[in-house]
Amino acid sequence: MRRNRHLRMRRGMALAAALTAVVLTVEAALPAARSAKVEQRPANTAVLDDRPAAAGAAIADTRTDRMTIYKGREMYRELTPQEEQVIVRKGTEPPFSGQYNTHFEKGVYTCRRCGAELFESSSKFRSDCGWPSFDDRIPGAIKRQRDRDGRRTEVLCAKCGAHLGHLFVGERFTPKNARYCVNSISMDFIPAEQRTQKAAAQAAASPDASNPKSGISNLKSEISNPQSAIPSPPSQERALFASGCFWGTEYYIQRAPGVISTTVGYTGGRTENPTYKQVCTGRTGHAETVEVIFDPSKTSYEKLAKLFFETHDFTQLNRQGPDIGTQYRSAIFYLTDEQKQIAERLTQQLREKGYNVKTEITQAGKFWPAEDYHQDYYNTTGKTPYCHLYRKIF
Ligand SMILES: [Zn+2]
Repeated sequence: MRRNRHLRMRRGMALAAALTAVVLTVEAALPAARSAKVEQRPANTAVLDDRPAAAGAAIADTRTDRMTIYKGREMYRELTPQEEQVIVRKGTEPPFSGQYNTHFEKGVYTCRRCGAELFESSSKFRSDCGWPSFDDRIPGAIKRQRDRDGRRTEVLCAKCGAHLGHLFVGERFTPKNARYCVNSISMDFIPAEQRTQKAAAQAAASPDASNPKSGISNLKSEISNPQSAIPSPPSQERALFASGCFWGTEYYIQRAPGVISTTVGYTGGRTENPTYKQVCTGRTGHAETVEVIFDPSKTSYEKLAKLFFETHDFTQLNRQGPDIGTQYRSAIFYLTDEQKQIAERLTQQLREKGYNVKTEITQAGKFWPAEDYHQDYYNTTGKTPYCHLYRKIF
C-alpha cells in the first residue's frame, strides 16, 4: 500500500509540475488581468491573514514617522502603492521584473513590511520562472494557506501576514522538492556581513535582548501607551486530529467554516523531529495528524470534532482503508480539559448509536510539522482524497 501511495504521489507531482507551468504561463501573459481579479474575495475565504493589513490601514494616523506605521506591537514599514498591491492586495509582480529574480548574494531575505527574516540565500535557486525561488524557508517564518483560486498554496509572512507568493511542490528542481515562488517586491535583502553587524549592534544596545532577531522590540519601549489605538487580535484555538492519511484529514478540515489554517504533521509518538519515512515504519509511535487553528467565534471544537468523525471510519483499529499501521490510527489529541470532555461525550454518543468506536483520546504532546511536500497535498496536486469521505452521522 505504501508503494501505491508513493506512486500516486509521483503521479501527483508530475501533474503539479504541469499545473504550475500553466499557472505561470497565464500569470506571465496576463499580469494586469490577474491583479484586477484578486480584488474580489469570495465570502467563504479565510481572511485572517488580511487582518493585519486592514488594521494597519485603519490606524494609519498613529504613524510615528514617514517610514513606519505603529501597528499592534510591531513597527511596520510604510508601503508604496506597488508594494501594497502585492503585499496587501495579493497581486503578483510581472515575471522577470523583480530586483531579486537573478540575485544570488550571500545573506538573508526579509519581509519588506515587518522586517522578519524569511529565506536564507542558501535556499535560493535558479528556476527561470521569473520570480525568486527558494526550496526552503527559515523555520516558523512562513504561513501557508489555500489561495482564493482554491488550487494553489499561498505563502505569507508568519509575523505580519504580508502576501509573499506561492508554494509549489513536486517539481524536482532541488532535492527538497519545493519551490517558494516569491515576489521580489515583498522582500528586502540583508547581506551576510550587514546581518552580523546588525545582530551585534542590537545585542550591545539592549543588554536584555536575548534574541538578536527581535530588533523591532527595541522600538517598542520608545512609544508610550501603545495599546490605546490597537484593536485586539482575533482569538484563535488549536486542535489536533488524526484519522489516517493526513492528506485526507486536512482536505476536509481546511474547508470547514471558521478554520484559519491547517498543518499536517506527526504527534503521539516518541521520536523527535520524525521524518515521513520514519513514521511510515510504524516504529516512532506517531500518528499522521492535522493541526487546526480555528476562530472560536466562527466555529467550535465540537463542530470540528464532529467533522473529524464524519470524514473517516473510526471503527477501524490502526488503519484507514488501504493504509495499515499505528501511524494511521484514529485519534484525538486534546489540548484542554474542555476538548477532552467534548471528545469523550461525542464518542459516547457514537457508542449509543451502535458504533464500535476505536478512536484514541490522548493528551497532546509535541506536534512535529511534516515535510513541505505533504502540506496542502490535495490542493497542490489537484487530486481528491482516496480514503476519506464525508457522511453525516450527528
Ligand atoms: Zn512580515
